[in-house]
Amino acid sequence: MKIHEYQAKELFEEFGIPVLGGKVAETAEEAVKIAEGLKAPYVIKAQVHSGGRGKAGGVKLVNTLEEAREASEKILGMTLITHQTGPEGKLVRKVLVTEAAEVAKEYYFAMTVDRDTGKLAVIASSEGGMEIEQVSKESPEKILTEKIDASVGLRDYHLRYLADKLGIKDVKGFIKTGLGMYKLFYAKDCSLVEINPLAELKDGTIVALDSKVNFDDNALFRHPEIEAMRDPAEEDPRELEAKAYDLNYVSLGGNVGCLVNGAGLAMATMDMIHAVGAVPANFLDVGGGATAEKVTRAFEIILSDKGVKCIFVNIFGGIIKCDMIAEGLITAARTMDLQIPVVARLEGTNVEEGKRMMRESGLNILPASSMREGAEMCAKIVKEAA
Ligand code: GDP
Ligand code: MN
Repeated sequence: MKIHEYQAKELFEEFGIPVLGGKVAETAEEAVKIAEGLKAPYVIKAQVHSGGRGKAGGVKLVNTLEEAREASEKILGMTLITHQTGPEGKLVRKVLVTEAAEVAKEYYFAMTVDRDTGKLAVIASSEGGMEIEQVSKESPEKILTEKIDASVGLRDYHLRYLADKLGIKDVKGFIKTGLGMYKLFYAKDCSLVEINPLAELKDGTIVALDSKVNFDDNALFRHPEIEAMRDPAEEDPRELEAKAYDLNYVSLGGNVGCLVNGAGLAMATMDMIHAVGAVPANFLDVGGGATAEKVTRAFEIILSDKGVKCIFVNIFGGIIKCDMIAEGLITAARTMDLQIPVVARLEGTNVEEGKRMMRESGLNILPASSMREGAEMCAKIVKEAA
């Protein structure tokens, strides 16, 4: 799960990471009120779940309250298109109003899990403010990484070493920042804590100008206060709807919609679709307790993705029965006036009955006798539709 910069900065404050004063606003009037309580100049920042806002015009440095109003009016309601949002961009509903720092130098500083070693990776670079992916491509030697073993934990000396390598003057501030990030990471089950840029001000002190904090979804049940920070407006509406019906949905961008049961079968189905030269539009797992209603909802969600040209239903009827799935498919196809071809591969309990129901329904549901055959049928359909 992702949160906004202003929320991440609230967590930073709680964990002793230095940030500049500021608050979030939903209107230009509110923004001006906030600025009145701060020291000029100010920075007005679009709050969307994306980086690269600066380049896209979502971060403005202003000197007066009047300019703060103008910048807020401009940014609020704009659709910000960055390298992370995709071409459709993201609508800005909130701005963060903060004091502007007099920046002397910008650094990069982050913590994440290194999956290869199972350790915490502390990543720092003198090339802050830029996209770290670009630094990593062009000058990888400028990225320092310290792997922290959980049995030792992050210690002052790790941070002192990094500060020395980077030439940071405010070593105390850097250590405080690093230890704060580390505490936050563990306390809230984060998957990423990133500061880009971490600024060295003219007076030499260190402060976090930007903040990005991501959380491990599987640990959210332990953190209702983090769950409460969720901004549904920032999430894929189809993924949210799926969640409401207890369906697992992941949008993938291709054109074969997939309705499967069980994560393992879902993975195998994705692989099979790729193997026959097509691209899945999504991963929709109806789980073990697929009812006719759930199947109908699943169809609705898949069809709301306009890229879908064919639906592949690949279900193993172990706990659920194939005739029940067929009934769900037929009901869904009828009530929704389904125009897109459906390829169905059912296997397991009551499979013959399920197939008979589909055959006799008179609907455009094409039975497949194996997973590969089904995937190949889908590939052919999407090729012809293109
Ligand atoms: P991002 O583009 O989405 O990563 O947004 P950032 O919060 O990183 O802001 C983009 C850039 O604006 C930063 O790299 C800084 O150079 C600049 N910036 C942000 N806040 C301040 C500030 O308080 N003072 C100054 N001088 N520059 C700032
Ligand atoms: Mn940034």
